[in-house]
Order: sequence, then structure tokens, then C-alpha cells
Amino acid sequence: MARVELRGVTKRFGHTVAVDNISLTIEDGEFLVLVGPSGCGKSTLLRLIAGLEDVTEGEIYIDDRPVNDVPPKDRDVAMVFQNYALYPHMTVYDNMAFGLRMRKFPRDEIDRRVRQAAETLGLTHLLKRRPAQLSGGQRQRVALGRAIVRDPKVFLMDEPLSNLDAQLRVQMRTELARLHQRLGTTTIYVTHDQVEAMTLGDRIVVMRDGKLQQVATPHQLYAEPANVFVATFIGSPPMNLVRGTLRRDGEDIWFETDEAIRCPIRGALAEYAAAHLDGQAGRPVILGVRPEHVITDPERVRDLPEGRLEATVEVVEPLGAETYLYVSAGPHNLTVRTDPRMQVRAGDRLPLALDGGHLHLFDAETEQAIR
Ligand code: ATP
Repeated sequence: MARVELRGVTKRFGHTVAVDNISLTIEDGEFLVLVGPSGCGKSTLLRLIAGLEDVTEGEIYIDDRPVNDVPPKDRDVAMVFQNYALYPHMTVYDNMAFGLRMRKFPRDEIDRRVRQAAETLGLTHLLKRRPAQLSGGQRQRVALGRAIVRDPKVFLMDEPLSNLDAQLRVQMRTELARLHQRLGTTTIYVTHDQVEAMTLGDRIVVMRDGKLQQVATPHQLYAEPANVFVATFIGSPPMNLVRGTLRRDGEDIWFETDEAIRCPIRGALAEYAAAHLDGQAGRPVILGVRPEHVITDPERVRDLPEGRLEATVEVVEPLGAETYLYVSAGPHNLTVRTDPRMQVRAGDRLPLALDGGHLHLFDAETEQAIR
């Protein structure tokens, strides 16, 4: 069992608060991904768990054991960095065996573990080579192998794929997922690649300025972002945001802007929106709509006279499986995902509709989700 618990963890470097009062439990066997913009504190949080930095305030537990004062080598965690940090003068075998030799493991046990890890990672035929004789992907696999042979309670990975080219990244991503399925070791993984985060994470932690913004499954993050920051950070191209107001019209709740956009809010969100109105008309909000929830299909648009808007196509971006349209509607710019078979050109006028059942609302001031 290997559960990692953070209780009110803060890390300051002088006046910089790199990690700000974070409480979080990473469950046994979980693959947890930390994402966020550069400087948000992801690496620092990982280094605190590894013991490479001292906690300023709060406690870290590994399997209910407080580890604040436990040195890194006794925490039973293995860290994999983006720059591999292999010993250039040693063979692949020796690089993988090194940590176990330092820990005085018996020779046969070392041999067994290294060969098993090499088998798992497809490195068996490379065991006699030196790092300089390997490709980037192979080096990264050796770095992983060095962590695996230790059979640690927790893997801590800091952007392990970021030095690889795009194609290799995708391949290694799948290998990592497979490895985690096989070993089931608790893993905490830092990245700023949201595709990696979405595909690898059982849960994702979104950080900003040292603080947790949301901790959720990939699907929850996408479908129910807690605030404007998460809404625009997860999803590519990002969610469209439009500032406007909520109004009640009989039973219905409407979102409207001064010009161009007026649409009804449907489903469960309508109830929350109504509660949020609180008797006031014209409550300022931010409407969020993902590019795939702007309806372009002419028949569906015709059936939805209420949420319609007239747009002008500015740019057409065909990507093969889908096409993105960058459109303007009055003063608002929207990104729209559409069927690649749709015949549309820059300059075209295009009636669109917003899918009332898939809208997001955020408080205009706090930017927190209304739901
Ligand atoms: P990136 O994605 O760019 O690696 P990150 O989210 O991992 O960023 P951290 O490296 O954890 O961010 O840094 C968080 C904050 O702490 C930053 O403002 C950084 O400048 C600061 N910081 C990190 N390490 C130190 C240090 N040793 N001394 C002083 N400030 C530091």
C-alpha cells in the first residue's frame, strides 16, 4: 500500500510562495497528474514529496507515516526527471543497477530485477550500450527502468517525456499507461501537456500560483470546470467565454449580451442560474461554451430559433477529422468545431446556435462556476 497525503503544505522561497496551503490525498495505486502554467508550483510540490525540498509548513505522509524529517533515500519513492540524468560512462545495465548496488542489494537480486525491468521496457538487447549510443526514447526508458528496479512505493515523474519529439512522446505515453496498468504503483506525474494529463491521469490536479484550482477526473474537469481558469486551461482550442447578463423571462432564464448573443439556458444549469439571479435582473456573468457545443448544422440551427446568432466566418482551419472555424458575432469572437465536410469559406455569413444544454456559467466577479 502506498498512499500519499498532504496536509496544509506550504513552501516558500524567500517571499515567493511556490506551494500555498495544499491538502490532497493520492490514493494507493492512483495515477495523479499535476498540471498548470509555468511557475505554478508543480515541480516544487513533487520535490517536496520526494524530500528534495523542505516543507515550510504542513505535513506530508506516505502510508500514514509522517515523512517531513525523513531523508529522500528513506522515503521509498523513485523520481524520474525530464533530463534522464543517466551516468554517461556506465552501460545501460549498470545505470539500472546503480541504485540497488548503492543500497547493497545482493548481486543475484540486482540481476533479476534489472533483467525483468529491461524485459518490461524492451531494453534487453541494449543492456551493454552506453547512453550516448541510445536514442532519446531509449534513454528515457532506461531512466524509467532505473526507477522501476527499485520497486518503490511511489513514482514521482517530472515532465519525463518533454525532451522527446512529438511522435516518440505519443508512443512513450502509451507505454507509461501500460506500465502503470501492469505495476499499479502510485504515481504522481507533472506535465504541462494537457493531452498527457487527460490520457494518463486517473485524476488531475490543476494548479495556479501555488494553489489548487480543481482536483477531478479528466472527464469532470472537462465537463464541470470549477472556474474560468480551469475552463480555459483544459480543452484545446479553449472554451469560448462571453461576458453578458442573466435575465428571467417568465419561466425561462436567458443569457444575453448588449448585442449579437441571446440564448436560453436549459437543463439543470437553468435551475442554478435562476437561484443565482436572486431576484435581480441583469446579473453579470460569463457564459462558457466549448467549440463543439456551438451548433453549425443548418437543420439543427433552424430548429433552434431561440439560441441563434448570426456569425461571420473569419478563418477556416481544416484538421482532417474536424474543422475549426474562427467566427465573429458582433463584438464577440468564437471558435467553432464543425464537420470537415461542411462547405464554408472565410467571409461567409453563418447562422449558428448555442447548445443550451451544454453551457457553462461563471460569476463575473469571482469567476467561479455557477452550478
Ligand atoms: P515549470 O512548469 O516552468 O517547471 P512549475 O509549475 O514546476 O513550473 P516550480 O518550478 O515549482 O513551477 O516553481 C514555482 C515557483 O517557485 C516559481 O515562482 C519559481 O520561480 C519558484 N522557485 C522554484 N524553485 C525555487 C528556488 N530554489 N529558489 C527560489 N525560487 C524558486
